[in-house]
Amino acid sequence: MKLREWLQMMTLGHPGKYLRLMGWCLFDSMVMSIPYGLMLCAVYYLLVPLAEPGAAVPFGVLWGIVLGFLAQLVVYFFVRQKTYLDACTGFADIIKDSQLTLGEHLRRLSMGFYASRDAGDLSTVLLRDYQTVGDLSQQLLPQSAVIVIRFALAAVCLSWFNGWMTLALFVVIVLALPFALWSMRRMGTVSAELQQAQRAVSAGILEYVGGIQTLRAYNMAGAHFQSLKQSFERERQAAIGMETGAAAPVSMLGRFVLSCGMALVMLVGVVLLSRGELPVFYYLAFLILTLTIYEPVLTLFTFIADFSRTNRSGARIKALFAEKPLPEPAVSQEADGTDIVFDHVSFAYGEREVLHDISLTFPAQQVTALVGPSGSGKSTITRLAARFWDVTGGAVRLGGVDVRAMKSDDVLARISAVFQDVYLFHDTIDANIRMGKPEASMEKIISVAKAAACHDFIMALPDGYQTVIGEGGSTLSGGEKQRISIARALLKDAPIVLLDEATASLDPENEVLIQQAISALVAEKTVIVIAHRLQSIMSADNIIVLEEGRVIEQGTHEALLAKNGSYAKLWAEQSRAGSWRLERA
Ligand code: ATP
Repeated sequence: MKLREWLQMMTLGHPGKYLRLMGWCLFDSMVMSIPYGLMLCAVYYLLVPLAEPGAAVPFGVLWGIVLGFLAQLVVYFFVRQKTYLDACTGFADIIKDSQLTLGEHLRRLSMGFYASRDAGDLSTVLLRDYQTVGDLSQQLLPQSAVIVIRFALAAVCLSWFNGWMTLALFVVIVLALPFALWSMRRMGTVSAELQQAQRAVSAGILEYVGGIQTLRAYNMAGAHFQSLKQSFERERQAAIGMETGAAAPVSMLGRFVLSCGMALVMLVGVVLLSRGELPVFYYLAFLILTLTIYEPVLTLFTFIADFSRTNRSGARIKALFAEKPLPEPAVSQEADGTDIVFDHVSFAYGEREVLHDISLTFPAQQVTALVGPSGSGKSTITRLAARFWDVTGGAVRLGGVDVRAMKSDDVLARISAVFQDVYLFHDTIDANIRMGKPEASMEKIISVAKAAACHDFIMALPDGYQTVIGEGGSTLSGGEKQRISIARALLKDAPIVLLDEATASLDPENEVLIQQAISALVAEKTVIVIAHRLQSIMSADNIIVLEEGRVIEQGTHEALLAKNGSYAKLWAEQSRAGSWRLERA
C-alpha cells in the first residue's frame, strides 16, 4: 500500500488535520526533552573537575542550567496547555467525525449489505477497530516519532563526545530492527486470531441476548450458553497466545537490546579507555546516559509490533467505506403524484430470482392488497417500492419517476411503513412516536396517539409519554407496540403507506383498536397492504394475487371470486378454517 493511502487510512481520512495535531505533539515532546539535554550538560560540567584535579566546579554554568530547567518548566506549562487540550479534542474529533461519516455511509447501503453481514461484525468495526486506530493516531504514531527524533538528536550530541562510543550505543538498536519487524508480522498473525475470536464473542453475545426468550422457552439457554462459553474460551486462548507468542518475545527483545547495548558500551569504553582514547568522565557520562537512551527502546518495539494489528483494523474500516451505496442522483427528479408502477420488474436476492417480470400499478389514493402464499414475494414488492433494494430488471416508478432517479431520502420522505416486526427504541414513548416528525408539537403527538388508540394505555404508564420503553419495546404488548408504530406513521403523514398486516392473532379488543388506528392512517393515502387474512382486504380497490414471484390474478374481491381461480380457492380455504382452534388429534 502506498504511504499516502496508508496515511489516509490511519488518519481516518483527515491527514492534514492529523499531521497538524501531530506537529503540536512533537513540539510538546521536544520541549519535554530539553531536561535531558540540560542533564547532559550538567553531567559534562560536573565531570570536568574530576578530569582536571584542581579545576573549580563551574557554579555559574550550573546555576544557568538550573535556570534553564525553570524556564523549560514555564514554557512547558504553556505549550502543554495548548497541545494537550488541542490534541485530546482534535484526535477525538477526527475519530468521532469518521465514525459519523461511516454511520452516514452505512445508512446509504442497500439492505443486501446488511443481509450478508452480522451486527456483531459491524459493531466490532465501529467500536473496537476505531479504538485500535484511535490508539495509534493518538499515541503510537506521535510517541514513536518522538522516540526516533530523540534518538537522532542524542546520536548527534553524543557523537560530539565520542564517535565510537555513540556507535556502540546505537548499533544494537539497528541490529535488532529485523527482529522487531519479524515480531510485527508475528503480532499481526496472532492479533488476527484474537480479533476473529473477539468478533465471534460480540456476535455470540448479541445473539444470546436477542434470542434469550426463545432459548428459555425451549430450555436451550444453558446449551446455547455453552457455545458462548466456548467463544469466550477461544478469546481467552487467543489473548494468551498473543501475550506468550508475540508480546512476551517483543518485551524480551527490548530487554536483550538493553543488556547487550550496555555490555557493548562498557566493553568499547574499556578498550578506548585502556588506549587512552577516551577521558574517564566521558566514559562515565556514556554509562549514565545509556540507561536514559535505552529506556524507550522497549516502548518503540512494542509500538512496531502493534502496527500490524492497527493496519488490520484500519483496513477493515476502509473496506466498510469501500462498500458501494445505492447509486444516488446529484439532484432528485420531482415525482408527479403518488402512484407506484412496477414496469417489467425482476428481482434477485443474490443469485436467486424471486420476482419475475412483474408489471403492476398501485394507483394514487387507492388501496391495493397483495395476497399469496408465504414466500410468493409480497414483502419483496414493498421493499422495492421503498427502494430498500434496487431491481435487477425493469423499473419501479413513483409519480412517473424511476426511484433510482430520486434520492433515497426523497423516496422515503413520501412513504410510511408499518411492518409486523415493530422495533421500538430504548427511549421514551414520546421520542419513539416523534421519529415520524421530530419537530412535532406535544399536542400533535397526543392527537396522533389518540387516533392510533394509544393515548389511554400511555397515560396509564408511570411517566405517561415520558416512560422509557425497554429494549425492543419489551415492556409493551404486541398490540400496543403495533399501535405506537401506527401513531409514528400517522405523525409522519406521508402520502404512501406500506402496511404489513399482523399475522399473529390479536385479542378482539386489540383487533378493533388496531383496525381503528389503521383506518385513520390510510385515509386518502396510496396504500399497499400485505394481507394475510383475506377478510381484512375485502373492500380494497384492487387485490393482487402472487404465486412464486409472479402475478397470477388481480381485481376486486367480487371480481376475483367470480373468476373462481386461486383467490376464490384461498377465500374458500380461509372461510372454512375461520379462526384456528386448538384441538386434540
Ligand atoms: P411471507 O408472507 O412469509 O412474509 P412473502 O410473500 O412476503 O412471504 P418474501 O418475503 O417477499 O415473501 O420472500 C420472497 C422470497 O425471497 C422467499 O423465497 C424468501 O425466501 C426470499 N427472501 C426474502 N428475503 C430475503 C433475503 N433478505 N435474502 C435472500 N432471500 C430472501
